Amino acid sequence: MDKALNKFVFKEVVSKKETSVVTPWLVLIVDDEEDIHIMTKMALDSFTFSDNPLKLLHAYSGESAKQILRENPDIGCIFLDVVMESHDAGLLLVQFIREELNNMNVRIILRTGQPGYAPEMSVIKQYDINDYREKSDLTSNVIFSCLTTALRSYQQIKTIESSRKGLEMVVDASSALLTIRGIKQFSIGILTHICALLHIKPEGIICANSKETELGKEVTILAAAGHYSHLFNQPITTIGKPHIEKNIENVISQKQSIFIQGFSFIYIPTTASNEIIVIIESSNTVSALDQQLVKVFGINIAVGFNNASMFEHIEDLAYTDQLTNLPNRISLMKHLSERMLEKENPFFLVIIDIDDFNVINDGLGPTIGDRVIVLISTLLSSIEIENKYIACLGKGTFGLIFGLEDNQQVSRTLLEIQHVLKPKVNIDNNNILVSLSGGVNVFNQQDEDADMFFSNASIALKKAKESYRGRFCLFCEEMNAQLTARLKTINELHTALDRNELFLLYQPQVDYKTQQIIGVEALVRWQKNDGTLVYPLDFIEAAEDSGLIVPIGLWILKTAIAQSLQWKSEGYNIRMAVNVSPRQMSEDDFVDKAIGVIKELGMTPKELELEITETTAVKNTDDLIKKLTLLRHAGVQIAIDDFGTGYSSLSYLQKLPVDRLKIDGSFIRNIDTSEEDACIAEMIINMGHKLNLEVIAECVETHLHQKVLIELGCDEAQGYLYEKPITGDALALMLKNQVSIFSK
Ligand code: C2E
Ligand code: MG
Ligand code: MG
Repeated sequence: MDKALNKFVFKEVVSKKETSVVTPWLVLIVDDEEDIHIMTKMALDSFTFSDNPLKLLHAYSGESAKQILRENPDIGCIFLDVVMESHDAGLLLVQFIREELNNMNVRIILRTGQPGYAPEMSVIKQYDINDYREKSDLTSNVIFSCLTTALRSYQQIKTIESSRKGLEMVVDASSALLTIRGIKQFSIGILTHICALLHIKPEGIICANSKETELGKEVTILAAAGHYSHLFNQPITTIGKPHIEKNIENVISQKQSIFIQGFSFIYIPTTASNEIIVIIESSNTVSALDQQLVKVFGINIAVGFNNASMFEHIEDLAYTDQLTNLPNRISLMKHLSERMLEKENPFFLVIIDIDDFNVINDGLGPTIGDRVIVLISTLLSSIEIENKYIACLGKGTFGLIFGLEDNQQVSRTLLEIQHVLKPKVNIDNNNILVSLSGGVNVFNQQDEDADMFFSNASIALKKAKESYRGRFCLFCEEMNAQLTARLKTINELHTALDRNELFLLYQPQVDYKTQQIIGVEALVRWQKNDGTLVYPLDFIEAAEDSGLIVPIGLWILKTAIAQSLQWKSEGYNIRMAVNVSPRQMSEDDFVDKAIGVIKELGMTPKELELEITETTAVKNTDDLIKKLTLLRHAGVQIAIDDFGTGYSSLSYLQKLPVDRLKIDGSFIRNIDTSEEDACIAEMIINMGHKLNLEVIAECVETHLHQKVLIELGCDEAQGYLYEKPITGDALALMLKNQVSIFSK
């Protein structure tokens, strides 16, 4: 239970009031003369006030009266003799009552046998003495009327006092409730505080919520105590008491609380479509004052209830994926932590991701994208495995946690999941083939950290995406080692630029017609400060992942251009090809930056060629076409690198604004021995020529390679046959001595 509620634990608030049925008026007679006691008793024999009888208490001295007063704080009136053991014993007692006991409620009628012992007017006022009488005055009638007046006054004081206390409780209760956030907790709070206000035990008390639905008003139990407590979240009809339902109906239609013998129905108006009715079963009749108080309480907490339900809604937004209504990533992580604590139960986590979801989303529109996600979530929910937990982690990504009986079960279960998830998504009679990749991590007793456990499944997913697209990949420690190595590389790469550890080599490109070097490709190298030379295949991916490729790529571009200008100043005018990675290309300002650098350094744009890989070219097509068009417009040449590996179609190629196709080295390696490779190379060359594109071959290592390529009509070539990537100075020397590179 909430802290705010703890203050009001039920048993603390139950007063004695409920058990006592008739409470007599307590009247104390203080007099040292026995006759006066007897006479007063006789006079008041048949006295009643407000339907309650009288109970007389007797004291024969000021001192004994003090004791009785201490023990009976509810004495309503005192007949008090002024002169007893001392001439002012009565007045001293008054002083004791008002000042020491701090009892301002009890009414006091002073009596004295001796005329002239009347207290000063100031004393009467100071101690709030109701009446002053000489004993001889006190006939039956006078005593009767004096006491009636005094008790009426006492009753009023008490009423004012209890309504003040009641209001204080209302204010306290309302502010305590305002801090409660969930509807259930709030409802428990309402019950607790109403019991406190009415001084009743929480037996048979219900907080019911009446909600407007499509089928009309629906009344459900939000919280209940005592013998109704098991009915939480049930419709009110489960109580099986038609008269309760009838009264609830009346409360709702009249929008008013109803108090009847044995039951109170308290109406709390929250919003137009949502009302709360508190039903209290109690043998005590609720006094008019308490009725007023609970009404005030009801009005006061209505706002709090609205806040609590709003909070619940906000919380729902924070923990639920709104499209699929599945728990979201935060919920999954919470669940994962809890499940990891129950160490003995093995389970595994699969992160499933729709391959190229943004291609579906961008290509077919977000509405179709959403429908695909919902369909996959339904398929996931339909998998029949006990103890499963499914969450939607983001657009197109799902998390699944499954309990296992033993580890042998993993592969069988995964196969089952994959089988269910082989969806051919049919949307408006169109089949969309959706491929899903998954990363799996199996819980073992050493795993403690939910974040780590989750991120290992993500590593496996990444591996699946890279190497086994459309399949599931199980995490293993080796992946972690690879990741650690990659992180180390990223870490070191951060300083590589500043420490001048990167440099460029240039590999010549030859023209088969002129047999001359017509260009170079700039290839980056990284020499760490410990001397190790790192090749791009070992760091470009890490640079991509970390985004470092953006500044590094800019440096490469600037350096290559500067080298090109240097050669130009020495009289060698050749094309400079620079590789551009997908991450660089996707930057919004890539084109501006590239053109800016060309202008700034003063290069003729057509002397620069940017190489983008074919796999980059088939993604994000619209954006890419726009960027390439701008670059070509500025005069820059574009080549498609590693061509033949990325499955781009002829029709697509037609749309791409490019100048050159670069046949991937894998088709060249066996071009002289494999008919298939030669055929692919031939197709690329022919296709390129049909589209008015030049074709260059990379990785040309032998004369046989060269012979086949020349026969097939390839325009240009690059490879170890001509030269490995070499330094700018070495290349300048080559250019200087260039007789015919073919003579090598
Ligand atoms: P790529 O752009 O296809 O570059 C061709 C790769 O083939 C280069 O490897 C080159 O050294 C190598 N190569 C050239 N001739 C031969 C040959 O006859 N036989 C064989 N077996 N290999 C040959 P390198 O320099 O290790 O670069 C590998 C890849 O790394 C490049 O492939 C490119 O994708 C990337 N890369 C290299 N430099 C850069 C760069 O400056 N920026 C970016 N973004 N990527 C780069
Ligand atoms: Mg290249
Ligand atoms: Mg290449």
